[in-house]
Amino acid sequence: MEQIKMVDLQTQYQRLRPEIDEAMSEVVAQTAFINGPAVKTFQAHLETYLNVKHVIPCANGTDALQVALMALGLKEGDEVITSTFTFIATVEVIALLGLKPVLVDVDPDTFTLIPEAVEQAITSQTKAIIPVHLFGQGANMNQLMAIAQKYELKVVEDTAQAIGSNYHYNNTTQKLGTIGDIGSTSFFPSKNLGCFGDGGACFTNNDELAAQMRMIVNHGSRKKYFHKIIGVNSRLDTLQAAILNVKLQHLDDFNSRRQKAADYYDGAFRGHRSIQIPVRMPDSDHTFHQYTLRVKDGKRDDLQNYLKEKGIPSMVYYPVPLHQQEAFEPFMEEAPILPNAELLSKEVLSLPMHTELSNTQLTCITDAILAFFE
Ligand SMILES: *Cc1c(COP(=O)(O)O)cnc(C)c1O
Repeated sequence: MEQIKMVDLQTQYQRLRPEIDEAMSEVVAQTAFINGPAVKTFQAHLETYLNVKHVIPCANGTDALQVALMALGLKEGDEVITSTFTFIATVEVIALLGLKPVLVDVDPDTFTLIPEAVEQAITSQTKAIIPVHLFGQGANMNQLMAIAQKYELKVVEDTAQAIGSNYHYNNTTQKLGTIGDIGSTSFFPSKNLGCFGDGGACFTNNDELAAQMRMIVNHGSRKKYFHKIIGVNSRLDTLQAAILNVKLQHLDDFNSRRQKAADYYDGAFRGHRSIQIPVRMPDSDHTFHQYTLRVKDGKRDDLQNYLKEKGIPSMVYYPVPLHQQEAFEPFMEEAPILPNAELLSKEVLSLPMHTELSNTQLTCITDAILAFFE
Protein backbone atom coordinates (compact mmCIF):
# COMPACT_ATOMS: atom_id res chain seq x y z
CA MET A 1 0.00 0.00 0.00
CA GLU A 2 1.13 3.54 -0.82
CA GLN A 3 2.17 5.56 2.20
CA ILE A 4 -0.84 7.43 3.59
CA LYS A 5 -0.58 11.18 3.25
CA MET A 6 -2.66 13.95 4.81
CA VAL A 7 -2.96 15.46 1.31
CA ASP A 8 -1.72 13.58 -1.77
CA LEU A 9 -1.02 16.12 -4.51
CA GLN A 10 1.49 13.81 -6.20
CA THR A 11 -0.94 11.03 -7.16
CA GLN A 12 -3.50 13.55 -8.37
CA TYR A 13 -0.89 15.26 -10.56
CA GLN A 14 0.18 11.93 -12.10
CA ARG A 15 -3.47 11.21 -12.95
CA LEU A 16 -4.01 14.61 -14.65
CA ARG A 17 -0.47 15.05 -15.93
CA PRO A 18 -1.03 15.09 -19.72
CA GLU A 19 -3.68 17.85 -19.50
CA ILE A 20 -1.79 19.93 -16.95
CA ASP A 21 1.60 19.65 -18.65
CA GLU A 22 0.07 20.70 -21.95
CA ALA A 23 -1.58 23.75 -20.37
CA MET A 24 1.69 24.74 -18.67
CA SER A 25 3.81 24.31 -21.83
CA GLU A 26 1.45 26.55 -23.73
CA VAL A 27 1.97 29.38 -21.22
CA VAL A 28 5.74 28.92 -21.25
CA ALA A 29 5.79 28.89 -25.08
CA GLN A 30 3.82 32.14 -25.14
CA THR A 31 5.89 33.65 -22.28
CA ALA A 32 2.84 35.69 -21.29
CA PHE A 33 3.51 35.11 -17.61
CA ILE A 34 1.58 38.10 -16.25
CA ASN A 35 -2.07 38.64 -17.19
CA GLY A 36 -1.78 36.18 -20.08
CA PRO A 37 -4.86 34.82 -21.89
CA ALA A 38 -5.34 31.91 -19.44
CA VAL A 39 -6.16 34.38 -16.64
CA LYS A 40 -9.14 35.79 -18.55
CA THR A 41 -10.27 32.31 -19.59
CA PHE A 42 -10.11 31.04 -16.03
CA GLN A 43 -11.99 34.09 -14.78
CA ALA A 44 -14.77 33.44 -17.31
CA HIS A 45 -14.91 29.70 -16.57
CA LEU A 46 -15.10 30.30 -12.83
CA GLU A 47 -17.87 32.91 -13.31
CA THR A 48 -19.86 30.30 -15.24
CA TYR A 49 -19.15 27.52 -12.74
CA LEU A 50 -20.15 29.65 -9.74
CA ASN A 51 -22.99 31.37 -11.63
CA VAL A 52 -21.69 34.74 -10.47
CA LYS A 53 -21.34 37.97 -12.46
CA HIS A 54 -17.75 38.82 -11.57
CA VAL A 55 -14.64 36.88 -10.57
CA ILE A 56 -11.56 38.95 -9.71
CA PRO A 57 -8.46 36.74 -9.61
CA CYS A 58 -5.68 37.71 -7.19
CA ALA A 59 -2.46 36.39 -5.66
CA ASN A 60 -3.76 34.34 -2.71
CA GLY A 61 -6.72 33.85 -0.39
CA THR A 62 -5.43 36.28 2.23
CA ASP A 63 -5.17 39.04 -0.38
CA ALA A 64 -8.68 38.15 -1.57
CA LEU A 65 -10.04 38.84 1.93
CA GLN A 66 -8.04 42.05 2.20
CA VAL A 67 -9.14 43.30 -1.23
CA ALA A 68 -12.77 42.49 -0.39
CA LEU A 69 -12.60 44.51 2.84
CA MET A 70 -10.80 47.40 1.09
CA ALA A 71 -13.54 47.52 -1.57
CA LEU A 72 -16.21 47.95 1.10
CA GLY A 73 -14.67 51.30 2.01
CA LEU A 74 -14.64 50.73 5.78
CA LYS A 75 -13.12 53.36 8.08
CA GLU A 76 -10.53 52.91 10.81
CA GLY A 77 -12.18 51.58 13.96
CA ASP A 78 -15.15 50.02 12.16
CA GLU A 79 -15.97 46.62 13.63
CA VAL A 80 -15.99 43.39 11.66
CA ILE A 81 -17.51 40.30 13.25
CA THR A 82 -16.08 36.91 12.43
CA SER A 83 -15.35 33.46 13.83
CA THR A 84 -12.68 32.76 16.43
CA PHE A 85 -12.31 29.25 15.02
CA THR A 86 -10.68 29.74 11.62
CA PHE A 87 -7.31 30.16 9.94
CA ILE A 88 -5.59 33.36 11.06
CA ALA A 89 -5.84 35.04 7.62
CA THR A 90 -9.52 35.86 8.14
CA VAL A 91 -8.78 38.02 11.19
CA GLU A 92 -5.30 39.19 10.24
CA VAL A 93 -6.59 41.27 7.33
CA ILE A 94 -9.20 42.98 9.55
CA ALA A 95 -6.45 44.06 11.94
CA LEU A 96 -4.04 45.05 9.15
CA LEU A 97 -6.60 47.47 7.70
CA GLY A 98 -7.02 49.22 11.06
CA LEU A 99 -10.47 47.73 11.57
CA LYS A 100 -11.53 46.09 14.81
CA PRO A 101 -11.94 42.30 14.76
CA VAL A 102 -14.83 41.12 16.94
CA LEU A 103 -14.49 37.39 17.46
CA VAL A 104 -17.50 35.26 18.32
CA ASP A 105 -18.06 31.63 19.14
CA VAL A 106 -18.95 28.78 16.79
CA ASP A 107 -21.55 26.06 16.89
CA PRO A 108 -19.84 22.97 18.38
CA ASP A 109 -21.44 20.67 15.80
CA THR A 110 -20.78 22.62 12.60
CA PHE A 111 -17.70 24.67 13.61
CA THR A 112 -19.30 27.75 11.98
CA LEU A 113 -20.58 31.08 13.37
CA ILE A 114 -23.55 31.03 15.76
CA PRO A 115 -25.99 33.57 14.24
CA GLU A 116 -27.39 34.56 17.68
CA ALA A 117 -23.87 35.23 18.95
CA VAL A 118 -23.21 37.41 15.91
CA GLU A 119 -26.39 39.41 16.55
CA GLN A 120 -25.41 39.91 20.21
CA ALA A 121 -21.98 41.22 19.20
CA ILE A 122 -23.39 43.96 16.93
CA THR A 123 -22.76 47.56 18.06
CA SER A 124 -23.20 50.93 16.36
CA GLN A 125 -19.64 50.51 14.99
CA THR A 126 -20.31 47.15 13.33
CA LYS A 127 -20.03 47.33 9.54
CA ALA A 128 -19.45 43.80 8.27
CA ILE A 129 -19.62 40.08 9.01
CA ILE A 130 -17.22 37.47 7.63
CA PRO A 131 -18.82 34.02 7.77
CA VAL A 132 -16.21 31.28 7.29
CA HIS A 133 -17.41 28.13 5.52
CA LEU A 134 -15.13 25.96 7.58
CA PHE A 135 -13.87 22.55 6.43
CA GLY A 136 -16.12 22.62 3.32
CA GLN A 137 -19.54 23.28 4.83
CA GLY A 138 -21.51 26.53 4.74
CA ALA A 139 -22.05 28.73 7.76
CA ASN A 140 -25.74 29.42 8.46
CA MET A 141 -26.15 31.89 5.58
CA ASN A 142 -29.95 31.98 5.79
CA GLN A 143 -29.83 33.41 9.30
CA LEU A 144 -26.63 35.42 8.87
CA MET A 145 -27.93 37.20 5.76
CA ALA A 146 -31.18 38.00 7.57
CA ILE A 147 -29.17 39.57 10.42
CA ALA A 148 -26.97 41.48 7.95
CA GLN A 149 -30.06 42.87 6.21
CA LYS A 150 -31.70 43.84 9.51
CA TYR A 151 -28.63 45.81 10.69
CA GLU A 152 -27.44 46.91 7.19
CA LEU A 153 -24.11 45.11 7.41
CA LYS A 154 -21.90 43.93 4.55
CA VAL A 155 -21.12 40.23 4.23
CA VAL A 156 -17.82 38.79 2.95
CA GLU A 157 -17.88 35.00 2.72
CA ASP A 158 -14.53 33.30 3.37
CA THR A 159 -14.88 30.41 0.93
CA ALA A 160 -11.23 29.28 1.00
CA GLN A 161 -12.28 25.83 2.26
CA ALA A 162 -15.59 25.38 0.49
CA ILE A 163 -15.30 26.14 -3.21
CA GLY A 164 -17.90 24.20 -5.20
CA SER A 165 -20.27 23.61 -2.26
CA ASN A 166 -23.92 24.31 -3.00
CA TYR A 167 -26.08 26.05 -0.43
CA HIS A 168 -29.87 26.10 -0.14
CA TYR A 169 -30.48 29.83 0.26
CA ASN A 170 -34.04 31.24 0.36
CA ASN A 171 -35.47 28.45 -1.80
CA THR A 172 -32.70 28.70 -4.39
CA THR A 173 -29.50 26.70 -4.75
CA GLN A 174 -26.38 28.84 -4.94
CA LYS A 175 -22.67 28.24 -4.69
CA LEU A 176 -21.13 29.27 -1.40
CA GLY A 177 -19.26 32.54 -1.87
CA THR A 178 -21.95 34.04 -4.11
CA ILE A 179 -24.61 34.79 -1.49
CA GLY A 180 -23.05 37.70 0.44
CA ASP A 181 -21.78 41.00 -1.03
CA ILE A 182 -18.40 39.42 -1.82
CA GLY A 183 -16.96 35.92 -1.61
CA SER A 184 -13.26 35.16 -1.37
CA THR A 185 -11.31 31.98 -1.97
CA SER A 186 -7.81 30.52 -2.05
CA PHE A 187 -6.14 28.26 -4.62
CA PHE A 188 -3.38 27.19 -2.21
CA PRO A 189 -2.23 23.74 -3.43
CA SER A 190 -4.02 21.74 -0.71
CA LYS A 191 -7.39 23.51 -1.08
CA ASN A 192 -10.24 21.74 -2.91
CA LEU A 193 -9.32 23.67 -6.07
CA GLY A 194 -5.56 24.13 -5.73
CA CYS A 195 -2.90 25.43 -8.09
CA PHE A 196 0.88 24.81 -8.05
CA GLY A 197 1.72 27.77 -5.85
CA ASP A 198 -0.33 30.65 -4.48
CA GLY A 199 -3.56 31.96 -5.97
CA GLY A 200 -6.90 33.41 -4.94
CA ALA A 201 -10.03 35.19 -6.13
CA CYS A 202 -12.97 37.36 -5.11
CA PHE A 203 -16.50 36.92 -6.45
CA THR A 204 -19.43 39.34 -6.54
CA ASN A 205 -22.68 40.06 -8.34
CA ASN A 206 -22.28 43.78 -7.64
CA ASP A 207 -20.84 45.74 -10.60
CA GLU A 208 -19.51 48.61 -8.47
CA LEU A 209 -17.75 46.34 -5.99
CA ALA A 210 -16.27 44.37 -8.89
CA ALA A 211 -14.92 47.53 -10.54
CA GLN A 212 -13.48 48.66 -7.22
CA MET A 213 -11.77 45.29 -6.59
CA ARG A 214 -10.31 45.14 -10.12
CA MET A 215 -8.80 48.55 -9.48
CA ILE A 216 -7.50 47.65 -6.01
CA VAL A 217 -5.63 44.50 -7.18
CA ASN A 218 -4.02 46.59 -9.93
CA HIS A 219 -2.33 49.33 -7.86
CA GLY A 220 -5.54 51.34 -7.66
CA SER A 221 -5.44 51.90 -11.40
CA ARG A 222 -7.82 51.40 -14.30
CA LYS A 223 -5.58 52.95 -16.92
CA LYS A 224 -1.86 52.20 -16.76
CA TYR A 225 0.08 54.84 -14.74
CA PHE A 226 -3.11 56.65 -13.71
CA HIS A 227 -3.92 55.81 -10.09
CA LYS A 228 -7.30 56.72 -8.62
CA ILE A 229 -6.85 55.11 -5.18
CA ILE A 230 -4.22 53.33 -3.11
CA GLY A 231 -4.28 49.69 -4.13
CA VAL A 232 -2.04 46.65 -3.96
CA ASN A 233 -0.25 44.38 -6.42
CA SER A 234 -2.14 41.11 -6.33
CA ARG A 235 -2.31 39.00 -9.48
CA LEU A 236 -2.93 35.38 -10.33
CA ASP A 237 0.06 34.14 -12.40
CA THR A 238 -0.80 32.98 -15.91
CA LEU A 239 0.79 29.58 -15.18
CA GLN A 240 -1.44 29.11 -12.14
CA ALA A 241 -4.50 30.20 -14.13
CA ALA A 242 -3.68 27.64 -16.85
CA ILE A 243 -3.42 24.86 -14.22
CA LEU A 244 -6.64 26.01 -12.58
CA ASN A 245 -8.41 25.98 -15.95
CA VAL A 246 -7.67 22.26 -16.19
CA LYS A 247 -8.45 21.51 -12.54
CA LEU A 248 -11.72 23.48 -12.50
CA GLN A 249 -13.13 20.94 -14.98
CA HIS A 250 -12.42 18.26 -12.37
CA LEU A 251 -13.64 20.18 -9.31
CA ASP A 252 -16.99 18.40 -9.02
CA ASP A 253 -15.20 15.05 -9.35
CA PHE A 254 -12.60 16.12 -6.74
CA ASN A 255 -15.37 17.09 -4.33
CA SER A 256 -17.31 13.87 -4.87
CA ARG A 257 -14.13 11.84 -4.23
CA ARG A 258 -13.73 13.72 -0.95
CA GLN A 259 -17.37 13.05 -0.10
CA LYS A 260 -16.93 9.31 -0.80
CA ALA A 261 -13.97 9.18 1.58
CA ALA A 262 -16.03 11.09 4.18
CA ASP A 263 -18.91 8.62 3.77
CA TYR A 264 -16.49 5.78 4.40
CA TYR A 265 -15.18 7.43 7.58
CA ASP A 266 -18.74 8.18 8.73
CA GLY A 267 -19.71 4.53 8.26
CA ALA A 268 -16.82 3.34 10.40
CA PHE A 269 -17.32 5.79 13.28
CA ARG A 270 -21.08 6.49 13.39
CA GLY A 271 -22.45 5.89 16.89
CA HIS A 272 -19.00 5.42 18.47
CA ARG A 273 -19.04 6.43 22.14
CA SER A 274 -15.78 8.41 22.02
CA ILE A 275 -15.86 9.91 18.54
CA GLN A 276 -18.28 12.43 17.02
CA ILE A 277 -18.39 12.42 13.24
CA PRO A 278 -18.86 15.71 11.34
CA VAL A 279 -22.46 16.90 11.51
CA ARG A 280 -23.92 17.61 8.06
CA MET A 281 -26.40 20.46 7.77
CA PRO A 282 -29.50 20.16 5.57
CA ASP A 283 -28.96 23.55 3.87
CA SER A 284 -25.34 23.03 2.82
CA ASP A 285 -23.23 20.59 0.87
CA HIS A 286 -20.15 19.46 2.71
CA THR A 287 -17.18 19.18 0.35
CA PHE A 288 -14.80 18.07 3.10
CA HIS A 289 -11.79 20.29 2.76
CA GLN A 290 -11.15 18.58 6.08
CA TYR A 291 -12.76 15.53 7.66
CA THR A 292 -12.72 16.53 11.30
CA LEU A 293 -13.66 14.32 14.23
CA ARG A 294 -14.31 15.39 17.78
CA VAL A 295 -12.48 13.02 20.11
CA LYS A 296 -14.07 12.88 23.58
CA ASP A 297 -12.75 12.16 27.09
CA GLY A 298 -9.45 14.01 26.63
CA LYS A 299 -8.10 11.27 24.35
CA ARG A 300 -7.37 13.39 21.27
CA ASP A 301 -3.62 13.81 21.75
CA ASP A 302 -3.11 10.15 22.70
CA LEU A 303 -5.01 9.07 19.60
CA GLN A 304 -2.92 11.37 17.42
CA ASN A 305 0.33 9.96 18.86
CA TYR A 306 -0.92 6.40 18.43
CA LEU A 307 -1.73 7.07 14.77
CA LYS A 308 1.65 8.69 14.24
CA GLU A 309 3.39 5.53 15.49
CA LYS A 310 1.38 3.56 12.95
CA GLY A 311 2.50 5.92 10.15
CA ILE A 312 -0.93 7.56 9.83
CA PRO A 313 -0.87 11.37 9.64
CA SER A 314 -3.53 13.57 11.23
CA MET A 315 -3.74 17.29 12.02
CA VAL A 316 -5.30 19.58 14.60
CA TYR A 317 -7.17 22.44 12.90
CA TYR A 318 -7.04 24.57 15.04
CA PRO A 319 -5.11 24.07 18.32
CA VAL A 320 -5.62 27.65 19.62
CA PRO A 321 -8.73 29.73 18.86
CA LEU A 322 -7.89 33.18 17.55
CA HIS A 323 -9.20 35.08 20.60
CA GLN A 324 -6.47 33.31 22.60
CA GLN A 325 -3.64 34.14 20.16
CA GLU A 326 -0.94 36.48 21.39
CA ALA A 327 -1.14 38.52 18.16
CA PHE A 328 -4.70 39.59 18.91
CA GLU A 329 -4.20 40.57 22.57
CA PRO A 330 -3.98 44.27 21.68
CA PHE A 331 -7.36 44.04 19.94
CA MET A 332 -9.32 42.65 22.89
CA GLU A 333 -10.16 44.78 25.91
CA GLU A 334 -10.25 41.53 27.84
CA ALA A 335 -9.94 38.07 26.33
CA PRO A 336 -13.50 36.89 25.77
CA ILE A 337 -14.53 33.44 26.91
CA LEU A 338 -15.76 31.48 23.91
CA PRO A 339 -16.31 28.03 25.37
CA ASN A 340 -17.24 26.09 22.23
CA ALA A 341 -14.12 27.08 20.30
CA GLU A 342 -11.97 26.47 23.38
CA LEU A 343 -13.42 22.96 23.77
CA LEU A 344 -13.10 22.22 20.05
CA SER A 345 -9.42 23.19 20.04
CA LYS A 346 -8.88 20.30 22.50
CA GLU A 347 -11.13 17.77 20.74
CA VAL A 348 -10.76 18.19 16.98
CA LEU A 349 -8.69 15.85 14.86
CA SER A 350 -8.62 16.01 11.06
CA LEU A 351 -7.96 12.75 9.22
CA PRO A 352 -6.21 12.27 5.85
CA MET A 353 -8.50 13.83 3.22
CA HIS A 354 -7.80 14.22 -0.48
CA THR A 355 -8.97 13.05 -3.88
CA GLU A 356 -6.81 9.93 -4.11
CA LEU A 357 -7.62 7.92 -0.96
CA SER A 358 -8.02 4.22 -1.74
CA ASN A 359 -10.33 1.88 0.16
CA THR A 360 -7.26 0.02 1.42
CA GLN A 361 -5.91 3.25 2.88
CA LEU A 362 -9.26 4.21 4.38
CA THR A 363 -9.63 0.77 6.00
CA CYS A 364 -6.14 1.01 7.43
CA ILE A 365 -6.96 4.43 8.97
CA THR A 366 -10.36 3.47 10.40
CA ASP A 367 -9.10 0.10 11.72
CA ALA A 368 -6.26 1.83 13.55
CA ILE A 369 -8.60 4.38 15.13
CA LEU A 370 -11.13 1.78 16.21
CA ALA A 371 -8.32 -0.41 17.61
CA PHE A 372 -7.05 2.52 19.72
CA PHE A 373 -10.36 2.63 21.63
CA GLU A 374 -10.55 -1.14 22.26
C1 LIG B 1 -6.33 28.98 3.34
C2 LIG B 1 -7.25 29.93 3.98
C3 LIG B 1 -7.12 31.33 3.81
C4 LIG B 1 -5.95 31.97 3.15
O1 LIG B 1 -5.58 31.53 1.91
P1 LIG B 1 -4.07 31.73 1.38
O2 LIG B 1 -4.20 31.47 -0.08
O3 LIG B 1 -3.22 30.74 2.08
O4 LIG B 1 -3.66 33.13 1.66
C5 LIG B 1 -8.09 32.14 4.36
N1 LIG B 1 -9.10 31.66 5.07
C6 LIG B 1 -9.25 30.33 5.29
C7 LIG B 1 -10.41 29.84 6.09
C8 LIG B 1 -8.32 29.43 4.77
O5 LIG B 1 -8.45 28.12 5.01
